[in-house]
Amino acid sequence: MSGAHDLVAVRLHDGVDFDEWRQRARELLRAGVAPERVSWRCDADDDLFATTDVASLPTVAAGTTVPRDFLSLAERVLAHRDARRHALLYRLLWRLTHGEPQLLRIVTDDDVMRARAWEKSVRRDLHKMKAFVRFREVRYDDRASVFVAWFEPEHFIVERVAPFFVRRFAGMHWSILTPDRAAHWDGESLRFDAGASREQAPDGDALEALWRQYYTSIFNPARLKVKAMKSEMPMKYWKNLPEASLIPQLIREAQPRAQAMVQAAPTTPRKRMTTPAPPAQDVATADSLQQIRRQAQDCRQCELYRPATQTVFGEGPADAEIMLIGEQPGDHEDLAGRPFIGPAGRLLNQALEEIGLDRKQLYVTNTVKHFKFEPQGKFRLHKRASASEQGACRAWLEAELARVQPRRIVCLGGMAASAMFGSEFRLLQERGQWRTLAEGRQAFATVHPSYLLRLPDERDREQAYRHFVRDLSLLVQNR
Ligand code: SF4
Repeated sequence: MSGAHDLVAVRLHDGVDFDEWRQRARELLRAGVAPERVSWRCDADDDLFATTDVASLPTVAAGTTVPRDFLSLAERVLAHRDARRHALLYRLLWRLTHGEPQLLRIVTDDDVMRARAWEKSVRRDLHKMKAFVRFREVRYDDRASVFVAWFEPEHFIVERVAPFFVRRFAGMHWSILTPDRAAHWDGESLRFDAGASREQAPDGDALEALWRQYYTSIFNPARLKVKAMKSEMPMKYWKNLPEASLIPQLIREAQPRAQAMVQAAPTTPRKRMTTPAPPAQDVATADSLQQIRRQAQDCRQCELYRPATQTVFGEGPADAEIMLIGEQPGDHEDLAGRPFIGPAGRLLNQALEEIGLDRKQLYVTNTVKHFKFEPQGKFRLHKRASASEQGACRAWLEAELARVQPRRIVCLGGMAASAMFGSEFRLLQERGQWRTLAEGRQAFATVHPSYLLRLPDERDREQAYRHFVRDLSLLVQNR
């Protein structure tokens, strides 16, 4: 039996199995074993330490409830490659259940900071894997083709990301090989086995040529920003991307090509494309936010594109933790092609500044991507997009959510709130209250800043603005 000060060595069969870690952690809590007494080991650790049968330790404490926030955080942190992850999570759990129930709200706490940083790193890795896995076709005699991809994730994320590929390539038989683990899908069931080596993955096929052709066709030399491109597509992934071999040459040729485009540009106003845009539901197949943004520029899924100047797509870091979703662009946004840059946007910036949030760290977008208006003399008066226009534009918002994977969402105005919470949502009654969405995301709604600008009475406006700031401050309080 373990004494009150003995070291307790806990062995996990699988260092990334959340259920297993949770079960052991529960047993340790019930036995009152403080974190500093626990040594976490995995089957893969080749050591001679005797391990403790944690389930047989005497119970000294009743079970306690753990905040749901912690569970979603722990699930992601467990996928981090750092061997100290089990200990960090157990320390957080212990502190949460031993007098510090609000611990996760203390963003300056060392343990909380480290867990959040690891969580972010895992989320980024998940995003990169979704974007940069490339399958190669392999044929075995007369059997159907199998598609095999090689990828080297930074963290242990294969189990977590595999369902995404099942949904996306449900009709294919595929394998994703990584050094840690391999995932196999046969059209019916998903199976995992041991990691593989680079040599076991095929090298090239006809798909590579298609990738290269596609990449060359979407590459716009006039928009080339090498730094941004390298941050979106880090160089460490290039070796497994067929299109990456084209990049140096495309960069070299970018300037002359851009000059040629400028010289060839018409002097009359730009004519709209008449070719049909890809169906909105197909945007989910585009790999990166950049590609989706480019596709959205030519969207013709509803009539709003006709009188508007351009599509106003979202902007901000592709791995932003927070996403702000507004309603639809206004006059200024339509002309500039950027969301929230008019008077309402300035008010939003001011409110964000007050609560200490840097807008550059947030992803800001709208539910509908084109300006809807009614011409009146020299002015264009804002008009609300209809339900069918909102529905048509939904695919773009879904695609942004899928690529950015924000952990927290703020809906600005009723249109965005309905898109996220359903049409039953009552903004004025339910504003400023966190809700949990699919994939554990947290979201709340507040009024659109343009609502504040429309209030005629100055005192009402000031009061409403304070309420707005109070709602937004939920972002910095405790989650
Ligand atoms: S409003 Fe949305 S769906 Fe309609 S054309 Fe613009 S981008 Fe496409």
